[in-house]
Amino acid sequence: MLRQYELVDRVLDYDPDADEAMLNRAYVFSVNAHGTQKRASGDPYFSHPIEVAGILTELHLDDETIATAILHDTVEDTVATPEEIERIFGANVARLVDGVTKLSKIEAQTENERAAENLRKFLLAMSGDIRVLLVKLADRLHNMRTLHYIPKPEKRRRIARETMDIYAPLAERIGMYEFMKEMQTLAFQQLEPEAYESITRRLEQLKDGSDGDRIAKIGSGLKLLLARAGVDAEVSGREKHPYSIWRKMQERHISFEQLSDIMAFRAIVPTVEDCYRALGVIHRRWPMVPGRFKDYISTPKRNGYRSLHTSVIHAENRRIEIQLRTPEMHAEAEFGLAAHWAYKQSVPATGGATRRTAQAAAQPGAQAGWIADLVEILDTAATPEELLEHTRIAMYQDRIFAFTPKGELIQLPKGATPIDFAYAVHTDLGNQAVGAKINGRVVPLSTVIENGDQVQVLRSKAQVPQPAWLNLAITAKALAAIRRHLRNEERDQSVALGRKLYDDIVQRLPATLAANALDEALKRLKLPDEAALMQAIARRTLGDAQVMEALMPGSAGADLADAPPQSSAISIQGLAPGVAYELAECCHPVPGDRIVGLRRPDASIEVHAIDCPVLAALAERSEEETDWIDVQWGNKTEGAVARISVEVRNEPGALGMLATVIGQHKANIINLRLDNRDTQFHTNTIDVEVHDAHQLMRLLAALRAAEAVNAAERI
Ligand code: MN
Repeated sequence: MLRQYELVDRVLDYDPDADEAMLNRAYVFSVNAHGTQKRASGDPYFSHPIEVAGILTELHLDDETIATAILHDTVEDTVATPEEIERIFGANVARLVDGVTKLSKIEAQTENERAAENLRKFLLAMSGDIRVLLVKLADRLHNMRTLHYIPKPEKRRRIARETMDIYAPLAERIGMYEFMKEMQTLAFQQLEPEAYESITRRLEQLKDGSDGDRIAKIGSGLKLLLARAGVDAEVSGREKHPYSIWRKMQERHISFEQLSDIMAFRAIVPTVEDCYRALGVIHRRWPMVPGRFKDYISTPKRNGYRSLHTSVIHAENRRIEIQLRTPEMHAEAEFGLAAHWAYKQSVPATGGATRRTAQAAAQPGAQAGWIADLVEILDTAATPEELLEHTRIAMYQDRIFAFTPKGELIQLPKGATPIDFAYAVHTDLGNQAVGAKINGRVVPLSTVIENGDQVQVLRSKAQVPQPAWLNLAITAKALAAIRRHLRNEERDQSVALGRKLYDDIVQRLPATLAANALDEALKRLKLPDEAALMQAIARRTLGDAQVMEALMPGSAGADLADAPPQSSAISIQGLAPGVAYELAECCHPVPGDRIVGLRRPDASIEVHAIDCPVLAALAERSEEETDWIDVQWGNKTEGAVARISVEVRNEPGALGMLATVIGQHKANIINLRLDNRDTQFHTNTIDVEVHDAHQLMRLLAALRAAEAVNAAERI
């Protein structure tokens, strides 16, 4: 384990301005906080954060990152609190430690491969400051290095799987190829022990062939060749790492022997021009393998990687791969953006303090692609949010990630509520949601979920989707499910209403219905099923007479004769005989209302209630233009249609109840419309046929007294 002074010296070595006192405080704090905790290896626990910090010194990271690494497990695993960290180490370190702690909480919660991509995105989104991610990756790397101490094989495999699926790809994505390779090698060893053994054995044999170390020989030959051509190259050779060989063997279904380019060589040359010159020399000396040449200098990879790659057929018909790059490209390739970051954030050394990575990266010339952009942003971004906004991490800016109690990761758009969450988990869970707990606390369903929240949806079998949810949900899935349910519910209600009206119609028939009369009626009416008929009746798209006629041909005539048309049931006094009149649609006057007639341009009379707002508006306009006629209800008047508005709680059966109450008061529903479905209540506008205003008042009173009714008014 690194001693305190060793660690601090390492940092001071590349950054003389580092806050030495803070690093010392962090070291002592971590040792004290972890106390006698032990690792599986038997080492004291604090050796782990110290080693993680050590890994990060190799990347020449700043003092805050190193302190964060030293402290990264204290909040999660000891009694230390975030407040304490902030007080002793400042807001920046506290924020970084908090970031790493959050990432650790979700570690190991995801076990299936499908969720891995989600988790990777989540980690990126959560790591608003890229330094959080670097600490997390170094943490994972050290855990992988010490994985073999963990006694339980299942646990080792789970951690290895997670590393392979999540952390190695993350390291690759931010250009940390060395981290990626080491993680993959260690995970591969755990997951495929036999394949790992056999591949490493073959690689050993290859290296120590009969003619000594092949790789060293080929490497020095290459260096000599380039030197003769005037290119000063630093050549290193290596065999591919076991996992990448394994992957190739799997992808191409070939054996180890068939694998051509197990040996790879890298020549680091001073300038870009030297890269191309060296390439020419190599291609003249050995035949190139067609299709293997890649110019990542003129066209860098998406992550900014630059180099020339080629494969040639070397002696003994053995293919070798050669990469050509400048020292700057090399620094990028090895440590990705960390190299650049270390370079950019350290001030030019006075007095010759050296920064290997920094110097390697300090070549003039444009840095490729997004790495350069990121370095720029890291320099200028004032806040982590601003940083997020500009980096490719921003890809996931509009998403949030939340967890089920079982640890399953749910991806949602920003602004999503527990309703969205519930539907994202399962439609049934959404339909039955009655409440939610976020991070253990009961919250309203309107609460906006934040990144990393753990959401527990409280459900009840008695619950059904509420119209109000349409205002809470933002995901298409939730909205569609809620609307579908409301549509079905509305259909159920109108079928129920239609059935009541149907029963009334059947009562009015002159004889008892035959058993197959309904089926026959459906055929006559060309309706698919009973429900469609009931809906048509409820919506008044089918008149009573039509239904009667369909059920029992010839019956409607009798009924119509019994019930004379409405106009003859109403008589108005005060009009000249033969003058046409109509009850106004705006106020629906009923007998008992004080009424007034209004002559229309065609000389017909429109009968209004005296307090009708339409009349008031007309009166205001001009007295001369309106032609009033004083009228009263005739004695023989039997009824008229009134329009009422009834606000009922949105619950099953509410509409049926309405129909029952209206029926009990001997009023007829003529028309019914549902409005305002978006709230807890919905408003029904109903046209009812009543004898007079008294009957209407009694009906309204009875409606108001009904359980589910909130308000009932005449319009
Ligand atoms: Mn750790």
